Order: sequence, then C-alpha cells, then structure tokens
Amino acid sequence: MLIDARTLPEGIEIETDLCIVGSGVAGLTLAQALDQALAGRGLRMVVLEGGGLDYDPASQALYEGRLLGNPAAGLDWSRLRYFGGTSNHWGGYCRPLDGIDFAERSWVPDSGWPIDGSSLEPYYAAAADVLDLAGPDFSADHWRGSVAPVFGREDLGRALPTRIFQQSPPTRFGEKYRHVVERGHGIDAHLWANVVEIEPTLPPTR
Ligand SMILES: Cc1cc2nc3c(=O)[nH]c(=O)nc-3n(C[C@H](O)[C@H](O)[C@H](O)COP(=O)(O)OP(=O)(O)OC[C@H]3O[C@@H](n4cnc5c(N)ncnc54)[C@H](O)[C@@H]3O)c2cc1C
Repeated sequence: MLIDARTLPEGIEIETDLCIVGSGVAGLTLAQALDQALAGRGLRMVVLEGGGLDYDPASQALYEGRLLGNPAAGLDWSRLRYFGGTSNHWGGYCRPLDGIDFAERSWVPDSGWPIDGSSLEPYYAAAADVLDLAGPDFSADHWRGSVAPVFGREDLGRALPTRIFQQSPPTRFGEKYRHVVERGHGIDAHLWANVVEIEPTLPPTR
C-alpha cells in the first residue's frame, strides 16, 4: 500500500521485519527482489521515502549541499528526491563495473572494496531484467554484428579495446515498480517519511 506518512498520528510506531530507506534505484531494486524472494513467508516490509510521488520543491530543498568531485552538478537538482529517486531523470547508460573500480587506489579517497568484480557476475542477469536491457552479455564478440564495422577490426581492437554500453529505455523505477508496493502483499511504502536517525540494536561488526 502507498501511505502518506503525513496523515499518520504523531509518534506512531510501525513494526516491520525489513525496512528499506529510499525508493530510488537501490531501494526499489531491493524491494521488488525481496517481494519475490519472501512471498508467502508472512514477513512484512516497509519502504520509507522522503518525498512524494512527484517532484516537490520542499522535498528537493533537503538535498541542498555540496557535491564533491563534480562541481558542475548541483546536488539539489541532479539527484531527485521523490518516489523512484534519480531514476526519474537518469540517462540509462549501463555496463558492468571494471576490476579497477574495486581496487584500492592511492588517489581515490576511501577506495578498495572487500569484494572483487567477479563477486557481482551472478547478479548481472537479474540487473539486466530490472533495467530492461537485452541481457547480461557486454562482450564485444556478442555485439560485433550490431555495432559499426570499425569495432570488428582486429588491428584496432588490440590498440583500442572495445567497451560496450547498453542503453536502458531508461527505466523509471517509480513507474515500473509502483505496483509492487501498491498492491500491498506484505509491503508498504510510506511517502513523505524522512529518515532522520537509525539506532542500531546490535554492536557494529568488524
Ligand atoms: C542527470 C543524471 C543522469 C544519470 N545517468 C546515468 C546513466 O546513464 N547511467 C548510470 O549508471 N547512472 C546514471 N546516473 C546515476 C544514477 O541515477 C544513480 O547512480 C542512481 O539513481 C543511484 O541510486 P540510489 O538508489 O542510490 O539513489 P536515488 O536513485 O537518488 O534514490 C534515493 C532515494 O532516497 C530518498 N531519500 C533520500 N534521503 C532520504 C531520507 N532521509 N529518508 C527517506 N528517503 C530518502 C530519495 O527521495 C530518493 O527517492 C545519472 C544521474 C543523474 C543525476
């Protein structure tokens, strides 16, 4: 069910088994996957979304801030703060991450992941479905017949490696997955519900 959190009584407590914060690309991908995986188990799930169903200047204003690394993009206009998140205007260019994206690099603060690129490979097929792509194969061989002949030239291929991007329609997550939260099978989305604090009950693991 879609619930306008502004209509709920002050101080209400909502009990749930799982809580997802944000209904953007990450939040709704998780919600639709868990909705399928947990069907019939009697678990309840809540998505908390800070904005409403459409663009709203008051919600958007909460994104006022400094965006590090790309001074040309303003945080308050580039990231969208309503149901569907930034997928409401993302471009749709997709490709798998490279090995170097996971590596620690001295010139990239906080770089270095506890997983490597191959850990994600089992999930690319599901991601392709979510993003409405043709499939999870991004190899140049797979696409050779569909791209300009220059990409098939062996001599150039050695000097200039070919990287394939697929173009998502682009998928608007709020439109595509609204039915998942709306039909109310154990999952509710609370709109206008800004998370301001998370109090963990377990000690952090290291
Ligand atoms: C103009 C533009 C074009 C892009 N094009 C591409 C592209 O072509 N290819 C690509 O791979 N990526 C692209 N991106 C990046 C892509 O859109 C983001 O990486 C992606 O949306 C991030 O997903 P997310 O779920 O982390 O955040 P978002 O999609 O931004 O979702 C975050 C959600 O959380 C909600 N929220 C925020 N704070 C709170 C709070 N305190 N409480 C409750 N809810 C909250 C927001 O309202 C929002 O709904 C583009 C981005 C922009 C701005």
